[in-house]
Amino acid sequence: MSRNISRRNFLAQTGKTGVLLAGGTAVLSELLDTEAKAQGTPQATLKAFEYQVKQLPFTYNALDGISEQTNKYHHDTHYTGYVRKRNEIEQKLTTVDRTAANANFSEFGELKRRETFNANGQILHELYWDILGGDGKQAGEIIDKLKSDFGSYDNWVIDFKACAKAALGWALLVYDPFDGRLHNYSGDTHNQGGVWGSIPLIPIDVFEHAYYHDNGPDRAKYIEAFLRNLKWSEINRRYQKVKNLKW
Ligand code: FE
Repeated sequence: MSRNISRRNFLAQTGKTGVLLAGGTAVLSELLDTEAKAQGTPQATLKAFEYQVKQLPFTYNALDGISEQTNKYHHDTHYTGYVRKRNEIEQKLTTVDRTAANANFSEFGELKRRETFNANGQILHELYWDILGGDGKQAGEIIDKLKSDFGSYDNWVIDFKACAKAALGWALLVYDPFDGRLHNYSGDTHNQGGVWGSIPLIPIDVFEHAYYHDNGPDRAKYIEAFLRNLKWSEINRRYQKVKNLKW
């Protein structure tokens, strides 16, 4: 048996006493829970906010290359599920035991982890449909900014497509008030890959549910369809609202 035991493993195995205990990790959790309670963490009762499912801003069959059935699955099942789960978490957070919060496992900790997943799932999907339903024709000052920050519009498209191919979940065009620039980012799930403070302008959902029904594994075909349906007037309206933000 190896004698090279890390400090973390040692603590997990022995707790504060230095005595080896059976089921070390579970014991550590109990100790941490007990410590949190002993410190007198105050309990809280919070108010829950109830989020509403937004309707699609266009008819289910309005998009070119993204089918009515895909929009139905995507909006009615996936997106709606995120809103419902966000509301369920909001309710549970009103009364969950905060005295048991710790960095290993607690009901409160898991609720907070899933809260950001479902909140971002709601936000990104609502924006996804808000900026679709157009004809893909470039329009507005946002295009000048894309050219300025990426060198050319085509450069932006090449980079955005690569981000969408590289991600497991989302690729986004964002405006970042920290540097006043547009960026393309990739994230592997709703609550991973974002940059704090950045404001999403164009999110493309590249989870399989967004395109497999129509295109099988041909994600590139779906990305092309997504770009054909961009509503640049709406993207530009949003850009105009944030373009002067600078921290
Ligand atoms: Fe989705």
